[in-house]
Amino acid sequence: MNREKKIIRVAFDTLGCKLNQAETEALTEKFMKSGYRIVNTEEEFDIYILNTCTVTHIADRKARHLLRMAHRRNPNAVLVAAGCYVEHAANDLLKIEGVKLAVGNKEKMNLPQLLKESGLVAADGYDFSAGYHCDNQRTRSFIRIQDGCNNFCSYCIVPYVRGREKSVPTEQVVTEINDKVSHGFKEVVLTGTEIGSYNYDGLNLNELIDIILKETSIERLRLSSLQPQEVTPSLISLWKDKRLCPHFHLSLQSGSDSVLKRMRRLYTTDDYANAVSLIRSVAGDAAITTDIIAGFPGESDDEFSESYNFCKKMGFARIHVFSYSKRRGTAANIMPNQISPQVKKKRSDLMLALAEEAAAAFYSSFIGKSLKYSGSRKIMETGTDIPEITLRYLPKAIKI
Ligand code: SF4
Repeated sequence: MNREKKIIRVAFDTLGCKLNQAETEALTEKFMKSGYRIVNTEEEFDIYILNTCTVTHIADRKARHLLRMAHRRNPNAVLVAAGCYVEHAANDLLKIEGVKLAVGNKEKMNLPQLLKESGLVAADGYDFSAGYHCDNQRTRSFIRIQDGCNNFCSYCIVPYVRGREKSVPTEQVVTEINDKVSHGFKEVVLTGTEIGSYNYDGLNLNELIDIILKETSIERLRLSSLQPQEVTPSLISLWKDKRLCPHFHLSLQSGSDSVLKRMRRLYTTDDYANAVSLIRSVAGDAAITTDIIAGFPGESDDEFSESYNFCKKMGFARIHVFSYSKRRGTAANIMPNQISPQVKKKRSDLMLALAEEAAAAFYSSFIGKSLKYSGSRKIMETGTDIPEITLRYLPKAIKI
């Protein structure tokens, strides 16, 4: 009897940083090339893969919630938990109904093969010949150039779950970007845990960017995140090339020097302010965004005020506010004078209100100016080049 074979449908969700997004993007492509069909999470799927984050307890909670939801929506699907949260809680995740596999950061990129070999879905009657099919409508792609971290900031679990720093070969980065360009992508975001420490065969981040600009025709190049001590005159001089997006995500974490010291960050607020001035001297309109932790252990009212006032002074385009979250195994987890949840909430709310104010001021500064619009592919495809738009009012929700 000629039984019709079943194409295996895979859905993905991603939590956390841009590095995770880059990895999910690469994984999606691997699944497509292996003959699986990619569907979105609202549709029916046979496999659901969640690329997890564990940077806060909220990220952990979201991961458990998404897995439970996926099981409720598709009770027969094979659920896979992958990535950072798995590194220290694989057994807990495997207890969630429907979760059949939990794979850490090292093995997750082999998932297409692992799943075929696991017998969970590769039974007789399944067809792995869906073919490489890409109907991508996005214009922005995330490319991983580096992974891991050697810094061990006192609050951070990342070096424990991602390991030490390793950089992707320069040639591979260039090939991947050229491949994205040939598939119609207009923008590439270079991602990693600590991209400022990129070093492959003696080539640093400046040199990598320079090579990308020379050897690819990508229209827009963006960096995911930098630390202030990595912002040097030679790096910033590259922004004279307009293909580099004037957006700098510069992690601050606290605007108080004593807190920064306890966090084991490698800069002071003066270093930070100098980095911001340097950026603005070359890219005056640049969007500078940041992360702030409210309620780090021992953070006094005065230290919080210092942090708040420093953020106000910097004129950020966006502030990502996190309430400090204890992570087992990190130095800050056992620091004395942990801040109560009520105080953390109050400080987070104050920072969030400041973030809104700062964003509104940043967007308002463009009213009446003409800008190159980098929104949806649809709009981009209507013209031969990126169209110019003039902002006449403050858009309700504009994304950087
Ligand atoms: S630099 Fe600090 S915050 Fe960033 S990943 Fe490394 S340890 Fe974590």
